[in-house]
Amino acid sequence: MPTRRLAIAFAVIAAGLARAADSAPSLPPPPDRAWVKKLFDGWRAPVPPQHLLANIYYVGASGVSSFLLTTPEGHFLLDTGFADTVPIIQKSVEQLGFNLADIKLIISSHAHIDHVGGHALMKTLTGARVLASGADARTLESGGAEDYIQWPKDTIIYAPVKVDRIVADGERVTLGGVTLTAHLTPGHTRGATTWTMDATADGKVQHVVFFSSASINDGTRLVNNPLFPDLVDQFEATFAKLKALPCDIFFAPHGGQFAMAEKFAGLERGEKSNPFVDPAGWRRLIAGAEKAFRDQWQREQTAAAK
Ligand code: ZN
Repeated sequence: MPTRRLAIAFAVIAAGLARAADSAPSLPPPPDRAWVKKLFDGWRAPVPPQHLLANIYYVGASGVSSFLLTTPEGHFLLDTGFADTVPIIQKSVEQLGFNLADIKLIISSHAHIDHVGGHALMKTLTGARVLASGADARTLESGGAEDYIQWPKDTIIYAPVKVDRIVADGERVTLGGVTLTAHLTPGHTRGATTWTMDATADGKVQHVVFFSSASINDGTRLVNNPLFPDLVDQFEATFAKLKALPCDIFFAPHGGQFAMAEKFAGLERGEKSNPFVDPAGWRRLIAGAEKAFRDQWQREQTAAAK
């Protein structure tokens, strides 16, 4: 028996090596600690808060967005950044004339440390309820430990937070007469969520989209990923869904994804029409993300066929 067990063990190792050889040419390795630190440190600076339109305010840091959506019965906070973004959010909320304690619901774009790392602290400071999709709720409650990405663990873990309500695809969440709809758009994380609402700008009702992100995390294999076997199918469904969403105005987890600096400058110049009304920019963003996905998928298939 020991001999047979040994033979099986060798077969398993050989199969594993063959798979590793298959994947080697098509994928860079996951990023190292120094690269991740540099990336994250570039996003942490304070920036002044901004009234964007209607009841929507920017209260985030330089490279990680947080949006305050106010209502007469308390406020939504979409994304909390890193734990050290929370004091920036607090200062911004107060500078705008609102109270942090009036934040009643904390929601998120996706359960990565740069967008939900501050959830636990913000929940303690405000007593707000945390809402998330089922898959991202598991990540939030593990403090990022169960994420499928293969980045150095100590760079992606954060204080775990208890989720108070799970939201399903298409579920509507209402507070003080403001309704947000959750659209599950998995891929970037297992439970990435795009939120939509209607808001008035330029004298008419506009479809507003808060994008979840849909990029492939560095070092992630799309095809035959044992940590996320149906990743390709999930991305396909996500892009179909995003392309079908009506969108006049869009926001995203990182300012660079929605031309934040240029649009903020437009607001400050007092442009006649709101610079955030940008349906063509939304189509470009999604087309670019889908192209990156299809290009990597193609590269992986080409490498596997060799
Ligand atoms: Zn992310």
